[in-house]
Amino acid sequence: MSTVEQLKKQLVEQGFLALTREYEAGIPETLEFALDDGLKVQLLDTGVIVFEPSSPANTDLVISSGVHGNETAPIEIVDDLVRRILMQELSVHNRVLCIIGNPVAMNMSQRFDIENMNRLFNGKHQGKEHHEALRAKRLEDYVKDFFGKREDATRCHYDLHTAIRGSKYARFSIYPYPDGRDWNKEQLSFMLASDINTILLGHQPSGTFSYFSSHQFEAHAFTVELGKVKPFGENTMSDFAAITANLSTLIEGKTVNVKAFDNEDFNLFEVKDELLKKSESFALNISDDLENFSSFDAGFQLSEDSDGGYRVEEDGEAIVFPNAKVPVGQRAGLVVRKTRI
Ligand SMILES: [Zn+2]
Repeated sequence: MSTVEQLKKQLVEQGFLALTREYEAGIPETLEFALDDGLKVQLLDTGVIVFEPSSPANTDLVISSGVHGNETAPIEIVDDLVRRILMQELSVHNRVLCIIGNPVAMNMSQRFDIENMNRLFNGKHQGKEHHEALRAKRLEDYVKDFFGKREDATRCHYDLHTAIRGSKYARFSIYPYPDGRDWNKEQLSFMLASDINTILLGHQPSGTFSYFSSHQFEAHAFTVELGKVKPFGENTMSDFAAITANLSTLIEGKTVNVKAFDNEDFNLFEVKDELLKKSESFALNISDDLENFSSFDAGFQLSEDSDGGYRVEEDGEAIVFPNAKVPVGQRAGLVVRKTRI
């Protein structure tokens, strides 16, 4: 059997995740074939697969997972979507790019190996030669090629994650900084229909995968946090039923039924401040298992640092992504507060 035939057999019989695991550093050859219904399948790289129907509907859809290697639920969601597509249980009517972002870290069961990949996009990989920087660059190129094929399509990118710690709200999305464009209320309604009613509105450009797609291609892009990190096989997939169903509906080229946007249906948060780790003496005055979006009263000394740290200014300020272990100079958490749009 030729290498290509072997790869195809592995992909179809063992699945996208198993193949990505086996070839963490890259596949021996790229793969292209068509299913019975004419759907073109291209395996472009390890963890990178494109589906193109012969006459696609108007949405170009990127579904990414595993940018953080230990965030297994999103990887299992993507693996299952790919399996259903290959089995022709799920009929593809939009162009779809599915990604497992960081196979090396995934095989290590770690968030990352050398550097947090979700801070390396939008050119932040430049000048770096380690494998995660190179992978971020390649993923950018695949997304660029994918979106670049059509000018008039609606571009969407849902980058699926799970969080290190629990959250006061089980699921939430980060809506990347829109560079002056309006927040898209239909997309927010799509999130609500996907059982995600907590949204953190991005306040500035960043190195995330979703910001890259939003900034470079004006895609409707989100970092979607689906719950807490768990090992493979320990996720409760029914927790993700709504988003999985809605992504399937989009893949099928059908319309997802959504409710008109209403601020009352959401917990919308804006960023009030960033906790920048300025010195090795930085510390957070919270417990290790404090949930994301936990709030504080005015006057609470949230962090200590060489410059005095951060004292809460208004009742209700909350913290998201606290992580005192980041290197000096990096963000150790976000202070957020409720808002409306
Ligand atoms: Zn993540």
